[in-house]
Amino acid sequence: MKNIAVIGAGTMGNGIAHTFAQFGYKVQLIDVSEKALEKGVATITKNLDRMVAKETISENEKNETLQNIQTYTSIKEGVQYAGLVIEAATENTELKLNIFRDLDSICAEDTILATNTSSISITKIAAVTSRPDKVIGMHFMNPVPIMKLVEVIRGYSTSDEVTNLIMELSKKLNKVPVEVNDYPGFIANRILMPMLNEAIYSLYEGVAGVYEIDTVMKLGMAHPMGPLQLADFIGLDVCLSILNVLYEGFGNSKYAPCPLLVNMVTAGKLGVKSGEGFYDYTETRKAEKIAKQFI
Ligand code: NAD
Repeated sequence: MKNIAVIGAGTMGNGIAHTFAQFGYKVQLIDVSEKALEKGVATITKNLDRMVAKETISENEKNETLQNIQTYTSIKEGVQYAGLVIEAATENTELKLNIFRDLDSICAEDTILATNTSSISITKIAAVTSRPDKVIGMHFMNPVPIMKLVEVIRGYSTSDEVTNLIMELSKKLNKVPVEVNDYPGFIANRILMPMLNEAIYSLYEGVAGVYEIDTVMKLGMAHPMGPLQLADFIGLDVCLSILNVLYEGFGNSKYAPCPLLVNMVTAGKLGVKSGEGFYDYTETRKAEKIAKQFI
């Protein structure tokens, strides 16, 4: 388990690669896009520089971390020595099923296949492979190098042995793993998303304004960020798609996405990434300030 392949060099993939590399693992970072790989490595370098400036790590540790990361555009080349593959590609069911079909045919028989999916069923992903006992959810939180939690999700057929191995591995990264079973939204999003949806409903029904809703939750519940601001930060399209997974998965109207959320996504108001959501992020400094407050 010295070689870890990470598929996808986006927000989560580069954070996962950074974390493993910092703890001495050899990381093969794979993305279909050369540009995404360059951006991923640039982000890792910038985050390591910040850690050096804060004296969390030394210049030497930074260089060793970067040396532990190799990049690939071919999955086949990238995964050949991996004991564990962590898939952190775009949240799209068909795309992930295809990746896992490929991984199953390319990887050694004993390679563990993990996914960082926020909402797609681990059991469904495992079912397209010939090794469902070795498929598991390893749900890191954003930003990965900083957030302590790893939600370790057991699919219907995931073995005890593989679950224990992933729990232990997460501890070696100085994370706190929590074991959960594979039902829609797992635990993190099953609880978080209805709360964000309720905040949006409160706005939609005119109970209070954006500032008031966020202030109640920040000052009243000691949340570091208000729910509407957090929804903007996660991406309103991402929130909508996770709520739909909960709604369809449980067949319960309590998870129905608020019509205001649906309208905003349709109008392209996706939060920080589109420049506008419940807040206006058109000035770069403003968006950065809000993001920093969370990180
Ligand atoms: P992202 O869009 O930032 O990055 C996804 C990357 O995957 C892109 O660079 C893309 O080029 C690459 N990719 C797409 N298809 C690929 C393929 N076939 N092979 C290799 N690379 C491919 O996405 P993200 O926010 O990093 O999310 C990745 C995963 O992590 C998703 O499953 C998401 O649900 C989950 N997740 C995201 C967050 C978050 O806060 N962003 C938190 C927890 C979990």
